[in-house]
Amino acid sequence: MEKNQIWVFAEQRGGVLHVVGLELLGKARELADAAKKSVAAVLLGDKLAGLADRLMAHGADVVLVAEDDLLEPYQLLPYTAVLARACREYEPDIFLFGATSLGMELAPRLAARLATGLAAHCIDLKFDAEGELLQMVPGWGGGVVAAVRCPKHRPQMATVMPGVLKKCEPARRSGEVKRLTVVDRLDGSGPQVLEIYREALRERPLAAAEVVVAGGWGVGGKEGWSLLEELARILGGAVGATRPAVDEGWAKEEQMIGQSGKTVRPRLYVGVGISGMPHHVVGMEDSAFVVAINQDPQAPIFEVADVVIVGDYREILPPLREALRAKLESGQFGVRGQSS
Ligand SMILES: Cc1cc2nc3c(=O)[nH]c(=O)nc-3n(C[C@H](O)[C@H](O)[C@H](O)COP(=O)(O)OP(=O)(O)OC[C@H]3O[C@@H](n4cnc5c(N)ncnc54)[C@H](O)[C@@H]3O)c2cc1C
Repeated sequence: MEKNQIWVFAEQRGGVLHVVGLELLGKARELADAAKKSVAAVLLGDKLAGLADRLMAHGADVVLVAEDDLLEPYQLLPYTAVLARACREYEPDIFLFGATSLGMELAPRLAARLATGLAAHCIDLKFDAEGELLQMVPGWGGGVVAAVRCPKHRPQMATVMPGVLKKCEPARRSGEVKRLTVVDRLDGSGPQVLEIYREALRERPLAAAEVVVAGGWGVGGKEGWSLLEELARILGGAVGATRPAVDEGWAKEEQMIGQSGKTVRPRLYVGVGISGMPHHVVGMEDSAFVVAINQDPQAPIFEVADVVIVGDYREILPPLREALRAKLESGQFGVRGQSS
C-alpha cells in the first residue's frame, strides 16, 4: 500500500459513525487534492459492514479496517496497539482524530507510542510552502492563532473538535478496503469497559438548539445566570457558556461553547457578558444572527455581532424579558415546541 497518505480516524460506536470523522475526511480530501496524496479512513470495531462505503463517499480512497470483538466497544490499549502497528507498517504522513472524549484519549497515547507530536484542538489545517502541515491552534489565552509544525517526526498528528470543519457532500466514489492486522497480543489487558451507561438527555441539546443564550464571566454570579436561563426558556432555546462561566460553576461542562466545547450554529445567538476571545468565537461564529450585550464598547465580540448592545446586562435583560413575555402571551410571536 502507498505510504505518506493522509489518514483519518473514523470513530464509530456500535456501528454508528461519529460525524467528526466525516468532517475530517472533508478536510483531508481538500489537503490531499492540493498535495496529490491519497486519503485513508481508519476504522476499528466489530461487525462494521456498510461503513466503508460511506467513508469512501465522503472522501476516502482507501478504508483500513480492523474487526475483532476486542475492538467493540472501544478500549484504549487494543486500539493503540492496532493503530501503532498500522502506522509503523504504512507510514502515513498525517493522522487526524476528532477531539471527542475517545479521540482525546487515543490520539495522545498513539503519538507518544510513535514518538511524534500532536496538536490538540486545531481550528484549521493547511500546508505551508514546503508541504509541511500547519496545525492552527488558538494560543496565549485565545489572543492569537498559532501555526504548529511537526517537521522532524511522522505522522503529523492533530485533533479537531466536532463541528469545526465541514464535511463534504457525499458523492458516488469507490475505493479499496484493506484489512489491518489485529495484533496477536490483544489480550484485553489494562483498563476494560465493563458496561456502557447512557445518561438520559434532560435538556434541549445545545448543538441542535435554534436559539442559544450564552453567558460569560461578565454575568457575575448565579443570580444573573438564572436571568439567562429564563430568557432561554421564553425563547425556547438552550443556555451556553464560556469557559470562565463553567469554571465558576454557573454552567455545566457540556454547556461550554468554543474550541474545547461545543460548536453551535443557531438561528439566534445572544451573548451576555462575553468578551469574544477566539477560543469562544470559533464555536459560535457561524450562528445566523448574533446579538451581543457587553458594557465595554471595544469588546471583540461586537466584531462578529449583528446587533450590538453596549451596557450593563442587568439593566438590559429584565425589560427585554418582560417585553418578550408580553409578546409571547399576546400571541405576537410563537416559539417552536411551546404551546403557549
Ligand atoms: C486551550 C484553551 C482552550 C479554551 N477553550 C475555550 C472554549 O472552548 N470556550 C471558551 O469560552 N473559552 C475557552 N478558553 C478561554 C478563553 O481564552 C477566554 O478566556 C474566555 O472565552 C473568556 O470568557 P468570557 O468572555 O466569559 O470572560 P472575559 O474575557 O473575562 O469577558 C467578560 C466580559 O464581560 C463583560 N462584562 C462584565 N460585566 C458586565 C455586565 N454587567 N454587563 C455586560 N457585560 C459585562 C466585560 O466587559 C468582558 O468583555 C480557552 C482557553 C485556553 C487556553
